[in-house]
Amino acid sequence: MTTTVTENNVDKIKAVFQAQQQTAIRLRTSTASERISKLKLLLSAIQKYEAEFQEALYQDFKKNRTETTLTEIVPLQSEIKHAISQIKRWMRPQSVSNPIHYLGTRAYVQYEPKGVSLIISPWNYPVSLTLSPLVSAIAAGCTAILKPSELTPHTSAALGKMVKETFDESEVALFEGDVNVSMALLDLPFNHIFFTGSPAIGKIVMRAAANHLTSVTLELGGKSPAFIDETADLQDTAEKLVWGKFVNNGQTCIAPDYLLVKESVQQPLIEHIEKQIEKVYNADKRGIEKSDSYCRVVNQRHFTRLQKLMEDALLKGATIAVGGKVNAEDRFIAPTLLTEVKTDMAIMQEEIFGPLLPVLTYQKVEQAIDLVNRGEKPLALYVFSKNKNMIEQVMSQTTAGGGCVNECLLHIGHPDLPFGGVNNSGIGKSHGHFGFLEFSNARAVLKQRVGFTGFKLFYPPYTDKVKNLVDRFKKFL
Ligand code: NAD
Repeated sequence: MTTTVTENNVDKIKAVFQAQQQTAIRLRTSTASERISKLKLLLSAIQKYEAEFQEALYQDFKKNRTETTLTEIVPLQSEIKHAISQIKRWMRPQSVSNPIHYLGTRAYVQYEPKGVSLIISPWNYPVSLTLSPLVSAIAAGCTAILKPSELTPHTSAALGKMVKETFDESEVALFEGDVNVSMALLDLPFNHIFFTGSPAIGKIVMRAAANHLTSVTLELGGKSPAFIDETADLQDTAEKLVWGKFVNNGQTCIAPDYLLVKESVQQPLIEHIEKQIEKVYNADKRGIEKSDSYCRVVNQRHFTRLQKLMEDALLKGATIAVGGKVNAEDRFIAPTLLTEVKTDMAIMQEEIFGPLLPVLTYQKVEQAIDLVNRGEKPLALYVFSKNKNMIEQVMSQTTAGGGCVNECLLHIGHPDLPFGGVNNSGIGKSHGHFGFLEFSNARAVLKQRVGFTGFKLFYPPYTDKVKNLVDRFKKFL
């Protein structure tokens, strides 16, 4: 779907932006209870629209309704309820202790809303990735303009309807559309931009933000590895990997992108994974294509992209260990494991974002660590092992936005953990208090308390007396 940005809707975008600039000034003094009321409104709206979102996501890429509740609605409800319970604490000014030469003053950090924010979201979890940053924006006292993805049009339309029904557009507004709408929005001097999407578009957003020196949160993607050694519980690991990789058809930013497996356990691990795939997606033996728990690749472009990644790997010597079946008409790609994968294959050079899972082996964990460290910094990194030294070695010698040990994906849902990437996989953190901070300006305030400022003793003229005082004072620091 292409949205042509006509003069009319550019005017509309500008008018809403200007109205939000006015509101943002008013919201500087908004209380915790006012923000909580808005979050409660959002919570009820999400409950009311749950069935509509389920239907929309089914229309968009055949997402199972229960999976929508589990991966879109539940995390959002948890995010909102957590914010409601913590907002007073987050908003409270934070006193800091004084060094000796600030005696007689009080110093504290006051969290003020940044102002008018822009939230651009991707298509893969369109409900939660549009509304979760909105929770942080509201908690921080910001206004927000939302721009969901054009790739999931049914869900974007449902989101638009819900936002219109719930909020005045001078506080929260939503514009549907593609890159043209994004660009019209990015021309405006927002106070904060929260972008979730690919690193390539993240760079475009950051460049546009630089024109107005707008602060950015960039939640991006990349290749997230999973390490598995010979001490791991292979059955448990397989269950967790199958869930983490194939939920949402592999179209999850923190899905394990490839496995790094100790050579001696490659074969048994693959067998466990194959059995687990059968158990969850082919329990009735009608074929995975018939499973209503397995959704589809979002569109033809991504289907072709994934098919090419598989073809390139096979051409260069990879082998299909599990799956491999595709059906273009239905945008179906079976859960697929590839072995004999080499780092020069396209599948190891770009984020896969689909149900293909390359399996690479190592003899010494240092080789696997080195491979990860040669690439861009991952958004997530997973380790499956019972060996404390191995876990410690991987955790301390690599870097990543986040991840789990002997779990998969679950760090994203923890209300008190920051979520985000590092460099190529993202800038800034979201969720809970971290999300609140992204939309807040930490304003430094120093208040004179006792009517005497010792610092005056150092004012010019710089006589010998002042010089001596400064010299003596230095020793106290
Ligand atoms: P995308 O970068 O193609 O699009 C994201 C948004 O940007 C969409 O709303 C799109 O309309 C808009 N957009 C597209 N081109 C633009 C341009 N030139 N200028 C401004 N805006 C533009 O990403 P996608 O395909 O929707 O999502 C997949 C990517 O998102 C993957 O890389 C995935 O890892 C990442 N992702 C990251 C997270 C996270 O939390 N870190 C979550 C989900 C997805």
